[in-house]
Amino acid sequence: MKECPRCLFTEEVVLIGKEQCEYCDLHDQQTATADPKEWDLVLGKIREAGEKKQYDCLVGISGGEDSSVLLYLTVKVWGLRPLVIHFNNRTNRKVADDNIRTLVDYLNVNFIEYFLDKKEYDDLTDSLLKAGVPDADIGNDVCMAKLMVKTALDNKIKYILNGHSFREEGSSPKAWSVIDYTYLNSVYRAFNGKDLVNYPLLTVWDQIYSALRGIRKISPFHYKDHSRAWVIEQLKLIGWQDYGGKHNENIYTAFVGNYILPKKFGIDKRITYLSAAIREGRISKESAKDILKTPAYFDVNDLGEKRDYLLNLVNSYPVGSRSSYKMTNFKALKPLFWLFAKLGVVPVSMYKKYCL
Ligand SMILES: [Zn+2]
Repeated sequence: MKECPRCLFTEEVVLIGKEQCEYCDLHDQQTATADPKEWDLVLGKIREAGEKKQYDCLVGISGGEDSSVLLYLTVKVWGLRPLVIHFNNRTNRKVADDNIRTLVDYLNVNFIEYFLDKKEYDDLTDSLLKAGVPDADIGNDVCMAKLMVKTALDNKIKYILNGHSFREEGSSPKAWSVIDYTYLNSVYRAFNGKDLVNYPLLTVWDQIYSALRGIRKISPFHYKDHSRAWVIEQLKLIGWQDYGGKHNENIYTAFVGNYILPKKFGIDKRITYLSAAIREGRISKESAKDILKTPAYFDVNDLGEKRDYLLNLVNSYPVGSRSSYKMTNFKALKPLFWLFAKLGVVPVSMYKKYCL
């Protein structure tokens, strides 16, 4: 199997050119469009937009490292006044809940915690597992995207800050994860005989409307690291706890990433993070491959009383095909999403992954 000369992706999941793969190309493009020197300018615009308003920006928090570092920086270093939201899908680890509470109290910020219709959420999760597709965790991404935009609109906030960093996390190949509200609803419909009713879905219309209302998404970590290691030290001083491993703050997310994907689909998501580290020169390709020799770990007992039920769904339904379900035709909307990417309404990576 041909491997990218630069990172760990193989031709099974990405297109590989002469010198590197399409995701290395994307990394270079993102590096070129997020000049560290421009950060102060961006910060100035956020402050300006917040003048005479209650909030300067909106920050989503999971209790994990990226969003915790982002929130600390937002308040203590950049001096911004954020509104903070969390989507609680009831599978947080206790440490994540504790971290959120610690930070919100310490920073004295306004905080909204969203809970969804439990039955609909559980049925959706079950549907994704029954469909046997690798996208078992996309429900949370689609929902969070909608909650962020809705909350920003409701509170007249222009800037949504995002804790994602292509330098730390890279971008998940489409073969491994498709984040699409039409697809999500189609999978739900296939197993429940009806559309999602209460579930927050960020549609193309929502995106057009939010773009017209001037909502912009900013990823501060795309510009620079913002002394992440120092911030983590500060977080520990106020009682924030490290929980070990990327996206391990949520039990269901960890179950999908560290158990279902490797065991059922042969997908190791650490390849995405490690490839980003290789591109940034933080680790050698050889060292990254050594790390991958130890399989991803997940303790199924963390699933608690749903352990046997969820394992049965994973094991008894065969691997399915995405082509059985409806998807949004993002390619037909290419000019619109090109504009969205230019305006900062969607990430460049979204445009490249779904529209090209
Ligand atoms: Zn590559």
